[in-house]
Amino acid sequence: RVTKPATETEEGSKARDCTVCDHVQTETIPMLEHEHSYGDWQKDKTQHWKECRCGEKTEVGNHTFDDWTITKEPTTTETGSRERTCSVCEYTQKETIPVHEHSIHDEAWKYDDTEHWQECSCGERLNVANHIYGDWRETKPATETEAGSRERDCTVCDYVQTETIPMLEHEHSYGDWQKDETQHWQECSCGEKLNVANHTYGDWKVTKEATETEAGSRERGCTVCKYVQVEDIPMLEHKHGIHDETWKYDKTQHWQECSCGEKLNVANHTYGDWKTTKEATETEAGSKERGCTVCKYVQTEAIPATGTGEPTDSTDPTDSSDSQGQQDPSGDTGSPQTGDSSDMALWIGLMLASCGGVLGMLFYRRKKAAAGK
Ligand SMILES: [Zn+2]
Ligand SMILES: [Zn+2]
Ligand SMILES: [Zn+2]
Ligand SMILES: [Zn+2]
Ligand SMILES: [Zn+2]
Ligand SMILES: [Zn+2]
Ligand SMILES: [Zn+2]
Ligand SMILES: [Zn+2]
Repeated sequence: RVTKPATETEEGSKARDCTVCDHVQTETIPMLEHEHSYGDWQKDKTQHWKECRCGEKTEVGNHTFDDWTITKEPTTTETGSRERTCSVCEYTQKETIPVHEHSIHDEAWKYDDTEHWQECSCGERLNVANHIYGDWRETKPATETEAGSRERDCTVCDYVQTETIPMLEHEHSYGDWQKDETQHWQECSCGEKLNVANHTYGDWKVTKEATETEAGSRERGCTVCKYVQVEDIPMLEHKHGIHDETWKYDKTQHWQECSCGEKLNVANHTYGDWKTTKEATETEAGSKERGCTVCKYVQTEAIPATGTGEPTDSTDPTDSSDSQGQQDPSGDTGSPQTGDSSDMALWIGLMLASCGGVLGMLFYRRKKAAAGK
């Protein structure tokens, strides 16, 4: 007899009784054979599968996840979250992303002009510090005319600092005095000037005296730079003067001459007495002469022949060697003179010449007046 019918999911059982004793024989009835029927995907945290209601499982496998998708970024104070989905069963695995702790995943240093740092994957700068420099090395030396350059490396990162070295200040070197017409100074090759000042002159020294005809010159030196200033001394104003005592003369006058040609002491000749140089005869004319008591002029005149006409007539024009005598106001052609005193008068006249023509003239007039009587 069947004590439990078999189903598609459970074995059944049957029993029969012994007819003599009370023994009961029990026997299993195998489950009913059935067509498995699997429905949707079943899943847990790690696997997915399909299952028949009989308990039979099929297509058991681990999830095959896509990439994580971050649904909330973590910060340094708050956790984040991410999820990924199984491409087969669409199981979604969610995971918390822990609070972000900065960390250096790349040892390389980054830098700018002043600092270096390392970076967390989040972009945060870590270990920020100023560069720590080694020694400068000169890449181009500075000169007095051109700036140079130098550089130094950070001992931590790869930064190289480059700097301009200013032109060398130079020690001014002043040489000899420089000068122009008004000042003296000392000058460096760089153009810097020192001790600029006006000349300080000593006394003038005449190097060439001025005359009435030529300018002179004088000079004075600066006591500091030895500059010599030269200056013209203007020509002297001309004052007429007799530098040569010699008398010059023409037929009527005598004079002395200034160097400029000006005639000074101009006066008519002042004659001494006539002196016969050749006696007149009855047939032949004679001659006489008289000298100026001042200059060397000698006036010569003819004496008419005695036999031809009235004695001593001044109207005879024929043999007068000197027509000048007629123009001379002091000349007296009408009175022939042979006086002995004329020699003496000439001597005295010459002596008095230095006293001037006027005195000589006065003396002459007196003598003449005496001779006329
Ligand atoms: Zn089944
Ligand atoms: Zn799955
Ligand atoms: Zn970070
Ligand atoms: Zn650095
Ligand atoms: Zn200088
Ligand atoms: Zn000077
Ligand atoms: Zn003059
Ligand atoms: Zn004269």
